[in-house]
Amino acid sequence: MTRTVLICGASIAGPALAYWLGRHGFHPTVVEIAPALRTGGNAVDYRGPVHLGLLERMGVLDRLREAQTGGTAMRFVDEHGRVLMEMPADFAGGDLEVLRGDLSRILCEASGDRTEWIFGDTITALTETTAGVDVTFRSGNRRTFDLVVGADGVHSTVRRLAFGPERDHVRHLGYYVAGWDLPGDPGPGRDTLNYNVPGRLAAIGDGQAFVAFSSPEEIAYDRHDLDAQKRIIRDRFAGLGWEVPRLLAALDDATDLYFDQICRVDVRPWTKGRIALVGDAASGATIGGMGNGTAVVAAYALAGELAAAGGDHAVAFPRYEALVGDFARRAQQGGEMTGRFLAPRTARGIRMRNWLHNRAWFLRMTMKVAGDRSARIDLPDYIGLSAASPRPPR
Ligand SMILES: Cc1cc2nc3c(=O)[nH]c(=O)nc-3n(C[C@H](O)[C@H](O)[C@H](O)COP(=O)(O)OP(=O)(O)OC[C@H]3O[C@@H](n4cnc5c(N)ncnc54)[C@H](O)[C@@H]3O)c2cc1C
Repeated sequence: MTRTVLICGASIAGPALAYWLGRHGFHPTVVEIAPALRTGGNAVDYRGPVHLGLLERMGVLDRLREAQTGGTAMRFVDEHGRVLMEMPADFAGGDLEVLRGDLSRILCEASGDRTEWIFGDTITALTETTAGVDVTFRSGNRRTFDLVVGADGVHSTVRRLAFGPERDHVRHLGYYVAGWDLPGDPGPGRDTLNYNVPGRLAAIGDGQAFVAFSSPEEIAYDRHDLDAQKRIIRDRFAGLGWEVPRLLAALDDATDLYFDQICRVDVRPWTKGRIALVGDAASGATIGGMGNGTAVVAAYALAGELAAAGGDHAVAFPRYEALVGDFARRAQQGGEMTGRFLAPRTARGIRMRNWLHNRAWFLRMTMKVAGDRSARIDLPDYIGLSAASPRPPR
């Protein structure tokens, strides 16, 4: 029966899963490719009673409230800074908004010494046997775990190794997004300013520059080549007014550039033998798909079902997906709209978006849809269950 679980990825889903596995008496190990926990980053939100209830059960809600940004209103302005559209802080910031780096740190700290952490390494090969999964690490280390879980995001290596190439599971949604630090800019707490021309968005908020642009076709580039990514952004934004020259100047020196396509992950089933996926690796939508909340819900369910089944993954894995699959896919749908919302492709599209989002009834309706999507799941109470004292079979 399962005792040891290797989790790949220490952002949101990974630490949340490690927390619950540890609490149920399993022995989680987390391997993260970055040399240390990533700090700062964009702000991410939680909304509704399911997300907040789980954070409370994990004992991290108060600490997250202390670290929260307070949310920021989103203002869309023209070249001269005149406001064209404005949305309240809770539209983008939900009920609780924190910087992703703060969230990861707080979740990792919550698992305490029940988790073994390995930074600066990754998995290069997985071989499943009847006894477990033999794992080869980039460092050359080899170890065997009872189970392996990919919590390594939309471009998951675990998914590629165990479920097949990325092109079979990831669909490009026609847009790219990027973010980088804006030195000298005040950090969280100020409203986000956004500027559009057709097919492009440039924004400043939380001490970061953020851009989005339309690209119906996928762009071929090396994910590890920072300069190539900077060139792509410069090409798309060269010659634009407003604050864009300042953002591009900061881009030259940026060492922490985040650049990715907006895409949707669709892999079924989420598990194969002793290997499972959780968070964006299973059901990500890059941005706008409530992936942060889904990651915490899915981690709770995966660990809980393993505990309820006494560590029998053959019983637990199908139950995990049956419980969370539809919930995650409903939340993901938001990601389909994100690009078109951020950077409509025509001037008329921008005017229409502004008109609609300046209407209180439209904002109420959109937030109600998001609120419903975040709450439509009944989660069992797994507290008190452990690998050694499972729930009687259902
Ligand atoms: C700009 C932006 C804003 C967002 N805003 C929100 C929001 O407001 N609300 C919301 O719900 N969601 C938001 N999201 C989405 C949210 O950030 C993700 O859904 C969430 O981070 C998913 O968590 P995860 O742990 O599954 O994956 P990730 O956060 O992608 O983490 C994956 C981790 O795995 C590591 N990793 C990757 N490859 C390997 C490897 N080969 N070996 C070891 N480790 C590896 C990475 O370094 C990383 O630490 C936003 C996303 C972006 C880009």
